Amino acid sequence: MFYPQGIKCVVCGKELFGENRYCICSGCLLKANIRFCPKCGRAVGSTTVYCEDCTKSERHFTVARAPFVFEGKAKKLVYRLKYGGEKHLAKVMAQYLADEYYKNVWHVDFVSYVPMHEKRQKARGYNQAQLIANELGKIINKPLVNTLTRIKFSDNFARMNRKERMREAEESFDANSKFKNKSILLVDDVFTTGATSSACAKELLNSGASDVYVLTFCTSESKNELY
Ligand SMILES: [Zn+2]
Ligand SMILES: [Zn+2]
Repeated sequence: MFYPQGIKCVVCGKELFGENRYCICSGCLLKANIRFCPKCGRAVGSTTVYCEDCTKSERHFTVARAPFVFEGKAKKLVYRLKYGGEKHLAKVMAQYLADEYYKNVWHVDFVSYVPMHEKRQKARGYNQAQLIANELGKIINKPLVNTLTRIKFSDNFARMNRKERMREAEESFDANSKFKNKSILLVDDVFTTGATSSACAKELLNSGASDVYVLTFCTSESKNELY
Protein backbone atom coordinates (compact mmCIF):
# COMPACT_ATOMS: atom_id res chain seq x y z
CA MET A 1 0.00 0.00 0.00
CA PHE A 2 1.22 3.45 -0.84
CA TYR A 3 0.38 6.54 1.11
CA PRO A 4 1.34 10.07 0.12
CA GLN A 5 4.49 11.06 1.96
CA GLY A 6 4.80 14.09 4.17
CA ILE A 7 1.15 14.46 5.15
CA LYS A 8 1.12 15.49 8.77
CA CYS A 9 -1.44 16.13 11.46
CA VAL A 10 -1.97 19.91 11.48
CA VAL A 11 -2.35 19.87 15.26
CA CYS A 12 0.58 17.76 16.54
CA GLY A 13 2.72 17.35 13.43
CA LYS A 14 2.70 13.55 13.54
CA GLU A 15 2.92 11.88 10.14
CA LEU A 16 -0.40 10.55 8.89
CA PHE A 17 -0.54 7.26 7.06
CA GLY A 18 -3.69 7.73 5.08
CA GLU A 19 -5.80 7.29 8.17
CA ASN A 20 -8.05 10.23 7.34
CA ARG A 21 -8.68 12.98 4.84
CA TYR A 22 -8.89 15.68 7.47
CA CYS A 23 -5.20 16.09 8.25
CA ILE A 24 -5.92 15.68 11.95
CA CYS A 25 -4.78 12.48 13.65
CA SER A 26 -6.93 10.32 15.89
CA GLY A 27 -5.03 11.50 18.97
CA CYS A 28 -5.87 15.15 18.34
CA LEU A 29 -9.64 15.09 18.37
CA LEU A 30 -11.28 18.51 18.60
CA LYS A 31 -14.28 19.04 20.86
CA ALA A 32 -17.29 18.18 18.71
CA ASN A 33 -20.34 20.40 18.99
CA ILE A 34 -22.91 17.74 19.82
CA ARG A 35 -25.60 19.48 21.86
CA PHE A 36 -26.50 22.83 20.40
CA CYS A 37 -29.24 25.42 20.02
CA PRO A 38 -31.43 24.31 17.08
CA LYS A 39 -31.41 27.84 15.64
CA CYS A 40 -27.92 29.27 16.04
CA GLY A 41 -25.95 26.08 16.66
CA ARG A 42 -24.17 27.32 19.76
CA ALA A 43 -23.25 24.75 22.35
CA VAL A 44 -25.94 24.82 25.02
CA GLY A 45 -26.06 21.29 26.41
CA SER A 46 -29.34 20.41 24.67
CA THR A 47 -30.55 20.07 21.09
CA THR A 48 -34.17 20.93 21.82
CA VAL A 49 -33.99 24.20 23.73
CA TYR A 50 -33.17 27.55 22.16
CA CYS A 51 -30.35 29.59 23.67
CA GLU A 52 -31.11 32.87 25.40
CA ASP A 53 -30.08 35.02 22.42
CA CYS A 54 -32.35 33.09 20.05
CA THR A 55 -35.20 33.35 22.53
CA LYS A 56 -34.84 37.07 23.16
CA SER A 57 -33.72 38.48 19.83
CA GLU A 58 -34.50 38.01 16.18
CA ARG A 59 -32.04 35.91 14.18
CA HIS A 60 -32.13 36.65 10.47
CA PHE A 61 -30.29 33.55 9.27
CA THR A 62 -32.29 30.36 8.68
CA VAL A 63 -30.02 28.24 10.86
CA ALA A 64 -26.36 28.27 11.85
CA ARG A 65 -24.17 25.23 12.48
CA ALA A 66 -20.59 24.54 13.50
CA PRO A 67 -18.80 21.20 13.87
CA PHE A 68 -16.61 22.25 16.83
CA VAL A 69 -16.72 24.16 20.07
CA PHE A 70 -14.39 27.17 20.26
CA GLU A 71 -11.89 25.88 22.81
CA GLY A 72 -8.61 24.00 23.09
CA LYS A 73 -7.18 22.62 19.86
CA ALA A 74 -9.94 23.96 17.60
CA LYS A 75 -9.45 27.46 19.00
CA LYS A 76 -5.70 27.22 18.38
CA LEU A 77 -6.31 26.23 14.75
CA VAL A 78 -8.57 29.25 14.28
CA TYR A 79 -5.92 31.56 15.73
CA ARG A 80 -3.18 30.02 13.56
CA LEU A 81 -5.24 30.71 10.45
CA LYS A 82 -6.43 34.12 11.58
CA TYR A 83 -3.29 35.60 13.11
CA GLY A 84 -0.50 33.17 12.23
CA GLY A 85 -0.72 33.39 8.46
CA GLU A 86 -1.23 29.62 8.11
CA LYS A 87 -3.58 29.84 5.16
CA HIS A 88 -3.31 26.12 4.40
CA LEU A 89 -5.55 25.48 7.43
CA ALA A 90 -8.52 26.90 5.51
CA LYS A 91 -8.59 23.72 3.44
CA VAL A 92 -8.55 21.52 6.54
CA MET A 93 -11.44 23.47 8.09
CA ALA A 94 -13.42 23.44 4.85
CA GLN A 95 -13.38 19.64 4.86
CA TYR A 96 -15.24 19.62 8.18
CA LEU A 97 -17.64 22.31 7.00
CA ALA A 98 -18.42 20.23 3.92
CA ASP A 99 -19.40 17.31 6.16
CA GLU A 100 -21.62 19.61 8.18
CA TYR A 101 -23.17 20.98 4.99
CA TYR A 102 -23.99 17.50 3.65
CA LYS A 103 -25.29 16.37 7.04
CA ASN A 104 -27.79 19.24 7.14
CA VAL A 105 -29.04 18.69 3.59
CA TRP A 106 -29.38 22.36 2.75
CA HIS A 107 -30.09 23.57 -0.73
CA VAL A 108 -27.84 26.54 -1.54
CA ASP A 109 -27.12 28.38 -4.77
CA PHE A 110 -23.70 29.62 -3.79
CA VAL A 111 -21.19 30.08 -1.01
CA SER A 112 -20.26 33.44 0.49
CA TYR A 113 -18.44 34.74 3.58
CA VAL A 114 -18.45 37.43 6.23
CA PRO A 115 -16.35 40.26 4.81
CA MET A 116 -13.64 42.14 6.66
CA HIS A 117 -13.31 45.88 6.61
CA GLU A 118 -10.91 46.96 3.87
CA LYS A 119 -8.56 48.52 6.41
CA ARG A 120 -8.32 45.37 8.46
CA GLN A 121 -7.94 43.10 5.46
CA LYS A 122 -5.08 45.25 4.18
CA ALA A 123 -3.35 44.88 7.53
CA ARG A 124 -3.81 41.09 7.66
CA GLY A 125 -3.35 40.48 3.96
CA TYR A 126 -6.30 38.11 3.68
CA ASN A 127 -9.75 37.32 5.03
CA GLN A 128 -9.71 33.90 6.68
CA ALA A 129 -13.47 33.48 6.21
CA GLN A 130 -13.04 34.02 2.48
CA LEU A 131 -10.25 31.42 2.35
CA ILE A 132 -12.43 28.81 4.09
CA ALA A 133 -15.44 29.66 1.90
CA ASN A 134 -13.33 29.35 -1.24
CA GLU A 135 -12.12 25.86 -0.26
CA LEU A 136 -15.62 24.81 0.80
CA GLY A 137 -17.05 25.93 -2.53
CA LYS A 138 -14.56 23.71 -4.35
CA ILE A 139 -15.49 20.67 -2.25
CA ILE A 140 -19.28 21.02 -2.48
CA ASN A 141 -19.08 22.34 -6.04
CA LYS A 142 -20.81 25.68 -5.50
CA PRO A 143 -19.57 29.02 -6.78
CA LEU A 144 -18.07 31.53 -4.38
CA VAL A 145 -19.74 34.94 -4.47
CA ASN A 146 -18.57 38.12 -2.78
CA THR A 147 -21.96 39.29 -1.52
CA LEU A 148 -21.25 41.93 1.12
CA THR A 149 -19.00 44.88 1.92
CA ARG A 150 -18.12 45.78 5.47
CA ILE A 151 -18.65 49.51 5.67
CA LYS A 152 -17.97 50.02 9.36
CA PHE A 153 -14.77 49.39 11.23
CA SER A 154 -15.69 48.23 14.72
CA ASP A 155 -13.37 46.55 17.16
CA ASN A 156 -15.10 47.01 20.49
CA PHE A 157 -17.79 44.35 20.10
CA ALA A 158 -16.69 42.58 23.24
CA ARG A 159 -17.55 45.55 25.42
CA MET A 160 -21.06 45.99 24.05
CA ASN A 161 -24.27 44.54 25.38
CA ARG A 162 -26.61 42.47 23.19
CA LYS A 163 -28.64 45.41 21.89
CA GLU A 164 -25.57 47.55 21.12
CA ARG A 165 -23.84 44.65 19.36
CA MET A 166 -26.87 44.04 17.17
CA ARG A 167 -27.24 47.69 16.25
CA GLU A 168 -23.52 48.04 15.53
CA ALA A 169 -23.51 44.89 13.39
CA GLU A 170 -26.60 45.89 11.45
CA GLU A 171 -24.95 49.15 10.42
CA SER A 172 -21.81 47.35 9.27
CA PHE A 173 -22.74 45.62 6.01
CA ASP A 174 -23.86 46.58 2.54
CA ALA A 175 -24.98 44.08 -0.10
CA ASN A 176 -22.96 44.20 -3.33
CA SER A 177 -25.87 43.19 -5.53
CA LYS A 178 -29.42 41.81 -5.61
CA PHE A 179 -29.78 38.13 -4.78
CA LYS A 180 -33.38 37.50 -5.68
CA ASN A 181 -34.62 34.10 -4.48
CA LYS A 182 -31.07 32.90 -3.88
CA SER A 183 -30.24 30.58 -1.05
CA ILE A 184 -26.85 31.54 0.36
CA LEU A 185 -24.36 29.63 2.48
CA LEU A 186 -22.49 32.18 4.60
CA VAL A 187 -19.11 31.08 5.99
CA ASP A 188 -17.08 32.42 8.90
CA ASP A 189 -14.38 31.02 11.15
CA VAL A 190 -16.13 31.44 14.51
CA PHE A 191 -19.70 32.04 15.62
CA THR A 192 -19.55 34.10 18.81
CA THR A 193 -22.76 35.93 19.67
CA GLY A 194 -24.29 35.63 16.21
CA ALA A 195 -24.80 39.40 15.92
CA THR A 196 -22.52 39.54 12.87
CA SER A 197 -24.02 36.52 11.08
CA SER A 198 -27.52 37.78 11.74
CA ALA A 199 -26.69 41.26 10.44
CA CYS A 200 -25.14 39.79 7.27
CA ALA A 201 -28.21 37.60 6.80
CA LYS A 202 -30.53 40.57 7.27
CA GLU A 203 -28.73 42.55 4.58
CA LEU A 204 -28.82 39.56 2.19
CA LEU A 205 -32.54 38.98 2.82
CA ASN A 206 -33.17 42.67 2.20
CA SER A 207 -31.41 42.19 -1.13
CA GLY A 208 -33.81 39.44 -2.11
CA ALA A 209 -32.16 36.27 -0.78
CA SER A 210 -34.60 33.54 0.23
CA ASP A 211 -32.44 31.85 2.85
CA VAL A 212 -29.11 32.39 4.53
CA TYR A 213 -27.47 29.36 6.14
CA VAL A 214 -24.44 29.98 8.32
CA LEU A 215 -21.51 27.60 8.69
CA THR A 216 -18.54 28.27 10.94
CA PHE A 217 -15.65 26.04 11.96
CA CYS A 218 -16.24 26.75 15.65
CA THR A 219 -19.03 28.04 17.78
CA SER A 220 -19.06 29.46 21.28
CA GLU A 221 -20.67 27.94 24.30
CA SER A 222 -23.78 29.84 25.23
CA LYS A 223 -23.32 31.09 28.77
CA ASN A 224 -26.93 30.57 29.70
CA GLU A 225 -27.62 26.89 29.60
CA LEU A 226 -31.36 26.46 29.39
CA TYR A 227 -32.48 22.89 29.74
ZN1 LIG B 1 -2.26 14.97 15.89
ZN1 LIG C 1 -29.37 30.03 19.69
